[in-house]
Amino acid sequence: PFDVLIVGGGPAGAAAAVYAARKGIRTGVAAERFGGQVLDTMGIENFISVPHTEGPKLAQALETHVRENGVRIMNLQRAEELNLDHGMISVRMAGGATLRARSVILSTGARWRSMGVPGEDIYKNKGVAYCPHCDGPLFKGKDVAVIGGGNSGVEAAIDLAGIVKHVTLLEFDTKLRADEVLQRKLRSLPNVTIIVSARTTEVKGDGQKVTGLTYEDRVTGEHRTLRLEGIFVQIGLLPNTEWLRGTLDLSPRGEIVVDAHGHTSLPGVFAAGDCTTTPYKQIIIAAGEGAKASLSAFDYLIRSSAP
Ligand code: FAD
Repeated sequence: PFDVLIVGGGPAGAAAAVYAARKGIRTGVAAERFGGQVLDTMGIENFISVPHTEGPKLAQALETHVRENGVRIMNLQRAEELNLDHGMISVRMAGGATLRARSVILSTGARWRSMGVPGEDIYKNKGVAYCPHCDGPLFKGKDVAVIGGGNSGVEAAIDLAGIVKHVTLLEFDTKLRADEVLQRKLRSLPNVTIIVSARTTEVKGDGQKVTGLTYEDRVTGEHRTLRLEGIFVQIGLLPNTEWLRGTLDLSPRGEIVVDAHGHTSLPGVFAAGDCTTTPYKQIIIAAGEGAKASLSAFDYLIRSSAP
């Protein structure tokens, strides 16, 4: 059995693995796709001390760092069930194998909900973006749209309005769902247009990058086109925690509830990164939280009596 088994191989899992292995304890990482969301990212310019890198390059660096510390990486392994079993924790993998450990760190990350319209996949990272903190500066002086009028969409629009030339916010419903204070702030900005009852139907591009989008006015049924260079999709971030429902405490959004030490509601089980209730989903935050969860797991292990 492992002393620490980490489920998920993004920045949170990688940091947890390095920290655990450096304590000289048996450490394993099981990941469906080692690298996580970082693999899907083009430019990364906010990982402090690395002014510019690319996702696949950072993912490779994470893997090298983890391997150099003697951690066993089990890639292409999806966890399906977690159980407490006689002072140990067992994790059943798709395919039937069960991994056992004295402590577990859950770092299964999250995925952005996509619009599911033609063109969105083709132009991902070529104008279609999901993270204003990450990609906002790439659209300096340009026209962009934000899809989604909830808190994250309206926050994104306010944030982007300070950087880009013009923001059009499209909301499917007849009204925005964001907090009133955010809506007031948004409406006070001179370079923002709000369109409600709008169903985005297609992302348009020239083969290289986004040139616009089309939407249906849900009141009149008319189809309209907007010319712009960026589309920020803000219709939800879904934590990869479906398999943990009923096993430990999840927030109403499905995030694993953690305290400041990364404890979950189950003894010996810790969590870090985008799959948790920790705010602001970013690489540097996930890595920091992974390190923290790992130190908490170590604290737990030295206090428990098992060998
Ligand atoms: P993830 O990176 O999501 O990793 C989760 C890991 O868990 C993966 O290995 C996955 O395969 C695995 N996993 C999931 N479910 C299971 C399961 N059941 N069993 C086993 N393994 C499982 N952040 C920035 O700071 N800067 C940026 O520039 C930036 N750009 C981004 C661009 C894009 C397109 C996207 C999608 C995200 C971007 N982010 C950026 C956000 C950043 O990638 C995430 O905050 C970060 O990767 C979260 O790390 P994590 O380790 O918590 O989860």
